[in-house]
Amino acid sequence: MTKPFDTIIIGGGPAGMMAAISSCFYGQKTLLIEKNKKLGKKLAGTGGGRCNVTNNGDLDDLMAGIPGNGRFLYSVFSQFDNHDIIAFFEENGVALKVEDHGRVFPKTDKSRTIIDCLERKINALGGQMLTQTEVVSVKKIDGLFHLKAANQEFSCQKLIVTTGGKSYPSTGSTGFGHEIARHFKLNITELEAAESPLLTDFPHKTLQGISLDDVTLRYGKHLITHDLLFTHFGLSGPAALRLSSFVKGGEIVELDFLPTQSQDALNAFFEAHRDKTVKNALKQLLPERLADFLAQDFPKPLKQLTPRETSSLLTNLKAFPIQITGKMSLAKSFVTKGGVELKEIDPKTLESKKVPGLHFAGEVLDINAHTGGFNITAALCTGWVAGSVHIQ
Ligand SMILES: Cc1cc2nc3c(=O)[nH]c(=O)nc-3n(C[C@H](O)[C@H](O)[C@H](O)COP(=O)(O)OP(=O)(O)OC[C@H]3O[C@@H](n4cnc5c(N)ncnc54)[C@H](O)[C@@H]3O)c2cc1C
Repeated sequence: MTKPFDTIIIGGGPAGMMAAISSCFYGQKTLLIEKNKKLGKKLAGTGGGRCNVTNNGDLDDLMAGIPGNGRFLYSVFSQFDNHDIIAFFEENGVALKVEDHGRVFPKTDKSRTIIDCLERKINALGGQMLTQTEVVSVKKIDGLFHLKAANQEFSCQKLIVTTGGKSYPSTGSTGFGHEIARHFKLNITELEAAESPLLTDFPHKTLQGISLDDVTLRYGKHLITHDLLFTHFGLSGPAALRLSSFVKGGEIVELDFLPTQSQDALNAFFEAHRDKTVKNALKQLLPERLADFLAQDFPKPLKQLTPRETSSLLTNLKAFPIQITGKMSLAKSFVTKGGVELKEIDPKTLESKKVPGLHFAGEVLDINAHTGGFNITAALCTGWVAGSVHIQ
């Protein structure tokens, strides 16, 4: 067995990499262990492979973007927040850009830029990294944590668990951190799919691949205006992912294709284009394939629509009904809701209240956020804070 480390971090996602950086920054002898060949496999796939590294909103935006226990993070954000993430990357040579809805990406549009920067920083600060090393057990004996991997053993005074949730297990997040927590008798809340694509009985083939900016999905009191994507199984994109927290399957939701246009404005538009066919008029407002689809029951000029037909067209544009038949499974959802129960954790240090020296950060905790950079923000910020508590 090697000499004990001050700090070992299990899991090289955003939380683990940032924990390693902060731990090294505070002078700790640090080891980051990752079972994949490369660090940041899940991070690499975010933002369509461009890495949606954070969101540039204010604290209220962060709280709105983290519906799953965001308030637990007030203390974390007072120590390290999204603006510190932006400053960190810029100070370390990564130019960033802000896109719609405050989403922050590297200017290169490549996840590798972000992952390389984090890795370089760990190296520069003298941290050690071991990839292709899966930790299979953890014990605490006489104040030291003992970790076993296939052919190696390690020990440390402080252990940070950043193994992620249980979504997309092919990226490495298979729930090992929950097992560690259970071993130490910490409670795990129920694990559920969050930010989940929606299955619908909609004519998928016709609309598959169409993406719409800022449309509104409505279900009961829930109104979500964001981008939406029609897929071969139903609906994806931020609007669908956000609505997934409020539906299970069996509900009918309404889609407003033109939320910025009132019914009166649309009636005026119909009047101004009365000589055009419904199809040609709608093409001015919507993507061509969608216009074709919505106009198929009205193959005539707008001026020939009966009042009933006009009303039905308006309903289709402003409140198109879609039957939700289910959600993707936890494994196919973007985020895991549930995790290490927050009552077990000190919000200032992210240390277990029961087991001194044992810290958790990132998606392994019972915190879930919307896509758009909020999960990654939570992961990087909790990672920094967990790493910053140093052994004297
Ligand atoms: C397709 C997709 C798109 C997403 N898009 C966005 C987005 O746009 N915005 C956003 O905010 N969030 C997004 N997310 C969510 C975000 O990527 C995660 O919330 C974030 O990566 C969690 O970080 P983490 O460090 O806690 O865990 P992870 O990134 O899951 O990292 C955990 C690491 O621990 C390692 N590990 C696990 N067990 C062991 C073990 N026993 N030994 C050694 N290593 C181990 C794993 O291999 C893994 O690398 C997306 C997720 C997916 C799947």
